[in-house]
Amino acid sequence: MIAYLIVFLFGLVVGSFLNVCIYRIPRNKSIIWPSSRCPNCNATIRAIDNIPVISYILLRGRCRDCSKPISVRYPVVEALNGIFYVILLWRYGLSTGTVAYMAFFSALIVITFIDFDFQIIPDVITIPGTLISFLLALFIVIDPFTGQAPIGLRQSLTGLLLGFGLYYAIAVLSKGGMGGGDVKMMAMVGALTGWKGVLFTTFFGSLAGSIVGIALMIFRGKDRKSRIPFGPFLAFGAALYILAGKEIIYFYLNRL
Ligand SMILES: [Zn+2]
Repeated sequence: MIAYLIVFLFGLVVGSFLNVCIYRIPRNKSIIWPSSRCPNCNATIRAIDNIPVISYILLRGRCRDCSKPISVRYPVVEALNGIFYVILLWRYGLSTGTVAYMAFFSALIVITFIDFDFQIIPDVITIPGTLISFLLALFIVIDPFTGQAPIGLRQSLTGLLLGFGLYYAIAVLSKGGMGGGDVKMMAMVGALTGWKGVLFTTFFGSLAGSIVGIALMIFRGKDRKSRIPFGPFLAFGAALYILAGKEIIYFYLNRL
């Protein structure tokens, strides 16, 4: 039980850093320096006001200096990251492979919020992410199907090539509907989860995207031309594969 608490708190602290990444990476600012500032009044945030989730509650969601509301997204990102870390620990136990998945989920959270805000998926995440995923796949990444590590060279390489090739083809055919950021993101997803992960992510990402897209058309009157970022749905599909892909696939196979 204590392990879950420690991992949750660790997830919150990492989540706090993810907020910095989400804000600064698309603005081409350093994620290391300077320390966090209020986006409204530019006052440096005190250490006591920088405690994940807790400070937001104590400050009642307002900056101590200028009292402008702080976006609820900051504690949401922190909590989301902490909760995912706990679920991953529960699903895969304490191992280096689980830590690799934690880092991957954090990257997915950053990609999701940046793509949502700016309709871009930064290369500084996906290109190193693909290389690191490939290296980790050779040694520690757990195969969600077998529960064993490593997922290995063949799976990782076929996943990387399928993710890149399939989405490159979609990007060309859709004439920019799918962007280069999505292509590189799926190379990363493939390098970490293998070709099964790419197919699963594509199916469930498209399903979730279609449902949300249709709902937006109905309720907000968005026409089919308005762009919906696809990165968050791909992130959803990849996360679902790692957390429950095996169960979902077996559930469908058993019904055939
Ligand atoms: Zn302020």
